[in-house]
Amino acid sequence: MTPALWKSAANALLEANLQLTRGSFSLDVQLTLAPGEVLALLGPNGSGKSTVLDLLAGLATLDGGTVTIDGAILTAPGRFVAPERRAIGLLGQDPLLFPHLSARANVAFALRVGEARLTADQARKEADRWLDRVGLHDLGDSKPGALSGGQQQRVALARALAAGPRVLLLDEPMAALDAETAPFIRQLIREQLAETGTSAIIVTHDIVDAVVLADRVAVLHDGALVDEGTTASVLAAPRNPFVAALAGVNLVVGSVQNGAVVAPDGRIFHVRPADAAALATTSSILPASVSSAPRARTGSEQNVPAAAVFRPASVVVQTEQPRHASPRNVWSARVTGIEPGSGGVRLRTSGDPEVIAELTPAAVADLGLQLGSTVWLSVKATEVSAYRR
Ligand code: ADP
Ligand code: MG
Repeated sequence: MTPALWKSAANALLEANLQLTRGSFSLDVQLTLAPGEVLALLGPNGSGKSTVLDLLAGLATLDGGTVTIDGAILTAPGRFVAPERRAIGLLGQDPLLFPHLSARANVAFALRVGEARLTADQARKEADRWLDRVGLHDLGDSKPGALSGGQQQRVALARALAAGPRVLLLDEPMAALDAETAPFIRQLIREQLAETGTSAIIVTHDIVDAVVLADRVAVLHDGALVDEGTTASVLAAPRNPFVAALAGVNLVVGSVQNGAVVAPDGRIFHVRPADAAALATTSSILPASVSSAPRARTGSEQNVPAAAVFRPASVVVQTEQPRHASPRNVWSARVTGIEPGSGGVRLRTSGDPEVIAELTPAAVADLGLQLGSTVWLSVKATEVSAYRR
């Protein structure tokens, strides 16, 4: 445990010092969360991410340590506030809706039992407002069984936020969703956390979640934090092989134009069709084919910040300008670096941002590549994920 990782922030909303031993697994984690901050908790399977959330939520008990919110003690030696009295919401990959209750009644339940304690009538009205916010305004009467996985997760998000938590804990909330739906839910979570100013900790092993959703990243390994900082700084200089592997992607931070992402140097990156649709809509509300509540595209998408992500192995390197039938991104660049990489040779190429291609040593030799060589790079649009930021 590096002492420098302990941040005793003066303005911390949540402060936790967590110690636990369970069989051969032991956990020793200190973390803080500022008001309105979103922290991504990354780490390999079994590193203790879910255990950290359970300890914060009061679903598991500490061997030692404390948990406080705004200075109020939730867990300490001799003190334990029950989960339902912590004002900490938990959203996992399973929406856990009451199957016999309508979507509206599921959300209204949180408003009747929570801090708000609304009357039945008030709770129904407020629940409809929340369903509207998550793009389900005409599905209030539907039972969970009649809803898609993505729609159920929207109801669960509405229910979690309607309770007005001080902190929302999200444990891989997109993990059970298909690749078409996940980007919309990610965008919705981002918007709703920002609009409600809710502080959150999101557990994920998808680097894109960290880039899109979080202000700060903490990396857990074998029950201890091994890296911590702003998302950009941790990805730029990872201190842990897990993060290095995660960060080994090309990331283009730019703006949206016609459903594509424009890089700072003007290169246009065409992206997967599903993500292009999410970029083009000004709200994250699903298109008609996926959601019950389509919303018209409005106005300009200019200057909407967005990021495109693709793997170095998806970048095809050639010395002649390629001609392709399928939609691809093609551009020329100069070779600025040739380095050994985990999957072969990593070729760094000029541009803002620089793009890394990964190829075999034999391919580097065949193409006669050297520092300064001019190459043609191409990436299929279907290999490029994209997200609004
Ligand atoms: P992660 O969410 O990062 O995948 P977990 O917090 O679920 O990791 O698990 C951390 C460690 O605790 C693992 O070694 C796991 O095997 C162990 N563990 C998880 N849940 C239980 C449990 N209910 N009882 C005993 N050990 C558990
Ligand atoms: Mg887990």
